[in-house]
Amino acid sequence: MPVHLPLVAKHEGEHTYCAYCPKLCRFSCPVSTVEGRETTTPWGKMSSLHHVVTEALPLDPAYAATWYACTGCKRCTEFCAHDNQVADTLIDARSEAVRHGVAPGEALEVIAKHQSRERNAALRADAIFADSMSDLSQTIAYVPGCTTVMQSGDAALHGLEVTRALTTASTRVEASACCGLPLLEAGDHDGFVRAAQAFLTRVSKQDVAVFQDPGCLHALRVTAKTHGVESRTTLLHITELAASRLQRFHERKTDGPVRYHDPCRLGRGLGVFDEPRRVLQQILGRPPDEFVENRAHSECSGAGGQLPRLYKQTSKDIAKERMGQHARHGGGTVVTACPAAANAFRKNGDAIVLDIVTLMRDSLL
Ligand code: SF4
Ligand code: SF4
Repeated sequence: MPVHLPLVAKHEGEHTYCAYCPKLCRFSCPVSTVEGRETTTPWGKMSSLHHVVTEALPLDPAYAATWYACTGCKRCTEFCAHDNQVADTLIDARSEAVRHGVAPGEALEVIAKHQSRERNAALRADAIFADSMSDLSQTIAYVPGCTTVMQSGDAALHGLEVTRALTTASTRVEASACCGLPLLEAGDHDGFVRAAQAFLTRVSKQDVAVFQDPGCLHALRVTAKTHGVESRTTLLHITELAASRLQRFHERKTDGPVRYHDPCRLGRGLGVFDEPRRVLQQILGRPPDEFVENRAHSECSGAGGQLPRLYKQTSKDIAKERMGQHARHGGGTVVTACPAAANAFRKNGDAIVLDIVTLMRDSLL
């Protein structure tokens, strides 16, 4: 019986191009680079999908597992003459894998445990932010994101302090539930759409929502829209807000290099390359140091796309590789604007790693 994968139908051109491609973006993928195998190159992952769609291969767990070997970093797209959206294609393939009962057990576990993770993050946020979360009449919502709340309570608080200092309007915290991104990445397309819709309804009374985690912002500003979920609230990353209020930061003395890592979803995902650099230039009194592989060609931290849950060692090796590049470029401090990337670097290298919100908080006038 022909296999029916409706969510993948719109990607027919993309997986077909890949299947017949001489692997031109092979070098660009962090997953296959650290694994050293063809199966997890963009070509390998998209070809297995193509051959399943065209019934040359069975829809089975081994091929479906390759669709999860992607952080969603979009780096391969930068080197593709067809601008192929490999990450988006593989995300939709994952939902078909779940629907057909061939998804990896770890992905099903992410979906099954989503509500309890969401509840735990909300409880933790209650403890961190105390009474800042309830007043829905406020003009601005500050959104730390579940990962920030669970892994970096201090950075979550610093983000709120910065948001309040940069705006004259009243600000509340929105951390009562998840944007739904983990569901989408694990393969629950419908669950993501419901969660994104519910999240945007919760901030619909605010004029602006300021996000700390670029993953949540990208999910709601870009991905949700492609699924028909629109926002009436202006959704901003905290570095976009800060870049429009540079006079609020004073210069700080820093020793040694301070190298900026572009988070994939903030940079390639949302096109926010200059704003964090302008903020850092204001604070450092000079442009930040750079990786050779930066901006649109920046390499990944390995922390996205549920890779840390499905390909744990690969995820760690990607972070180590990026920290190795940092050391080879001269070491010093790494600063980034993504809490998940900051945590991955702290766990997998020796460098001092700073979240940009902490630098901003310490430099407020
Ligand atoms: S994404 Fe583009 S360059 Fe990479 S394998 Fe597919 S067609 Fe080739
Ligand atoms: S989006 Fe990133 S991780 Fe995924 S296939 Fe492309 S380069 Fe590899």
